[in-house]
Amino acid sequence: MSNIKSAQELRVLLEKNAKDKNYYLNPDMAFVDALLEGLIKNLNRYGYSSCPCRLSTGNYELDSDLICPCVYMENDVQKYGSCFCALYVSKDVYENKEVISSIEPSKR
Ligand code: SF4
Repeated sequence: MSNIKSAQELRVLLEKNAKDKNYYLNPDMAFVDALLEGLIKNLNRYGYSSCPCRLSTGNYELDSDLICPCVYMENDVQKYGSCFCALYVSKDVYENKEVISSIEPSKR
């Protein structure tokens, strides 16, 4: 992901990742754009795209579980309908058949 330069490039990559795993990006495009900007900011700051909704340490080893899509994403989408940031959502949330329930962060 280190060769990603723009939020648009990142969106294409994350959409592909989501589709491969049968998840969806949040249909609220403005909301997603804000998260993508945060991911790009962290990518430029740390050299990896750590979660924009959590505090990163700047240490790759310590933050490796928070690199998007984080290790908590799949479980949170299955359990709550979205990841902690609500960047990724389930099919039912994407199709407005279910609302996102509140999430306890898995870490930090
Ligand atoms: S909570 Fe969502 S946006 Fe944050 S790193 Fe995990 S998958 Fe990415």
